[in-house]
Amino acid sequence: MMDNQKHLIDKMRLDGDGYLKIAKAIGVSENTVKSYCRRQKNTDKKGAQAYCAECGKPIDTSKRSGRRFCTDSCRIKWWNKHPKAEMPYTAHCACCGKEIHMRRKNERKYCSHRCYITARYKDGDGNG
Ligand SMILES: [Zn+2]
Ligand SMILES: [Zn+2]
Repeated sequence: MMDNQKHLIDKMRLDGDGYLKIAKAIGVSENTVKSYCRRQKNTDKKGAQAYCAECGKPIDTSKRSGRRFCTDSCRIKWWNKHPKAEMPYTAHCACCGKEIHMRRKNERKYCSHRCYITARYKDGDGNG
């Protein structure tokens, strides 16, 4: 990215413009803008300005820190687009092989309680 593009991103962010709008305005991909803004945030921890994960607008964190979205409607939109983000880990059921999604690594071994029971009977030694 060129320096003047970076400058424009900064300026548009201050104006409260979203990633997509900025990306279109300066002719780069939305991801480029996003990663640039993320890097900026990391290098400037003191500023600690938070931006909405959905629309990229600055969030008022003076009342409540740790917010990720400017409004509830943005939060809902984001979760609709990322239904699996809450469960970033995938594995396969040790019994039937069905894909399972987990919040934490190795959180689950089976897709259902039924598979858990079935697998235990199959093992035969009743261990546990
Ligand atoms: Zn938003
Ligand atoms: Zn299963």
